[in-house]
Amino acid sequence: MAIRLVENPSLLLPPAIAAVDHPLEALAARAYAEPPHPYRTPFARDCARVLHARAFRRLAGKTQVFTRRGAESDHSRSRLTHTLEVAQIARTLASALGLNAPLAEALALVHDIGHPPFGHAGEKALDTALRVHGLGFDHNLHALRIVTSFEQRYAAFPGLNLTFAVREGIVKHSRDYSAPDHPELAEFLLGEFPPLEAQLIDLADEIAYLTADMEDGLEAEILKLDELRAEVPLFEESFALARDAFPAAGSRMLTFEALKRMLNALVTDLMRETAIQVRSLGIETLAHVRHAPRRLAQLSPAIESRRKAAKQFLYDRLYEAPVMAAEHAHAEEVIHTLFRAWTQDPALLPPDHQARVAAEGAPQAVADYIAGMTDTYIEQAWLRHTPRNPGQLANSLTC
Ligand code: MG
Repeated sequence: MAIRLVENPSLLLPPAIAAVDHPLEALAARAYAEPPHPYRTPFARDCARVLHARAFRRLAGKTQVFTRRGAESDHSRSRLTHTLEVAQIARTLASALGLNAPLAEALALVHDIGHPPFGHAGEKALDTALRVHGLGFDHNLHALRIVTSFEQRYAAFPGLNLTFAVREGIVKHSRDYSAPDHPELAEFLLGEFPPLEAQLIDLADEIAYLTADMEDGLEAEILKLDELRAEVPLFEESFALARDAFPAAGSRMLTFEALKRMLNALVTDLMRETAIQVRSLGIETLAHVRHAPRRLAQLSPAIESRRKAAKQFLYDRLYEAPVMAAEHAHAEEVIHTLFRAWTQDPALLPPDHQARVAAEGAPQAVADYIAGMTDTYIEQAWLRHTPRNPGQLANSLTC
């Protein structure tokens, strides 16, 4: 049931835009037919299947931005806590707009399940390693492989047997794949936009990590509050509002209040602008959404330019800051060393991964093995593969 916002009834979109959560609907179709559940809808079941997946639990051991440095703080986000924050935002967006909240939640819960260890540095290293073999790493496509085949928890089918809407959303929530380049994805209607529930996930993700990475970056003392205030208008505007509301509060509390206001402002703007886009294009149904001239989930131009400026600040001062270079270099070394060793001698792989070498080739089987690992697991594998003396070991763990 959609939340009816008294102050903003115009946020509710035409009801026929929402994905219909019913076992007989095409969006709820599963690759392997299953009887309907007596009291749970298809998308609610998908939420539960993702929550119970082993790959979902491994998100707890994969850091977002920080790898070793993150381990020094009890409070920096893992991909699991980030995922739960995205799910919270996605539920709010879907409910307020009158969309299907369980579908939005399932898509948020699964959106990062395909990420390898060591954050984006790990993804880049894995992609580079695969390119030598004419392949590449794409976390959306890897997520699809996890939910359609790697998870083995059900006797009746491989994978999680998720609904079409969730599988389509995994593929299309953040980018458009061209049909000629990806014939293997033909069933996902590559010429059409996904439902709005999926379109909103990419921006819910952006909003979640923009605010969270500011907080974690400050906590790690890589970002400086005065620089954030001076160079990120989106943050400074929220900080000024927080100071007006709580003039006696200290800078730490004002920072939390500012981040909360910033997140709220971004979510509210996303709802409003999406509703404006829907109205201005006369969108009334899901079919209209699919064939619209552009994606409809958008921030307003003014907020979008502020969001881009904030993201650029995070790239310059956090993600690609000189202080992070050692972590990125370490991620590259670990992934390249293990990838090389295991592709040269697949007999070193665990039996279930060895079994995939004949069909997939060693590079793909090794990449899939590495991509599933947590940061801790791959560190241990690397240390086993590259024994060091105690002095080197201590040094490697603190660099
Ligand atoms: Mg994410």
